[in-house]
Amino acid sequence: MNTLQHILINATGAAIISVLTLGHVDMHFFWVVVLAGVLIDADHTIAAMYSGMIKSPIKLVRYWVRIANRRAQDFYIFHTFEFIFLLVLLGIMFNNLTLLFVVVGLLLHLMADCVASFRSTGKFNLITDYSLITILFFIRR
Ligand SMILES: [Zn+2]
Repeated sequence: MNTLQHILINATGAAIISVLTLGHVDMHFFWVVVLAGVLIDADHTIAAMYSGMIKSPIKLVRYWVRIANRRAQDFYIFHTFEFIFLLVLLGIMFNNLTLLFVVVGLLLHLMADCVASFRSTGKFNLITDYSLITILFFIRR
């Protein structure tokens, strides 16, 4: 799923959730959900840098645009339930509403990724694709 599709899905989701819960579109909530839905994909780029595939910043931006639709590797830290759970804990511990808004943005993004993955593979791989524990300890590359 490309970045534009994620922006549209998260913007629509944020507007709907905001209207249903508050009766209007809260702009703080809206922009945090949209930004979180885009920035989550930074982990694809981080993974590529870590593996030594990318060295220059220009290549990095090109790579971000190019790989949006596919999984080049099998481990993306921001795309895990454990990372999201950590954000929920931090949001509650520090009474930080913005962190919880980020969680909404990440969940909308993951739902969109899940649907895209289902459309290309024909199956839902929620646990094997998005659980850090499962990826690290039960699936070896
Ligand atoms: Zn994604």
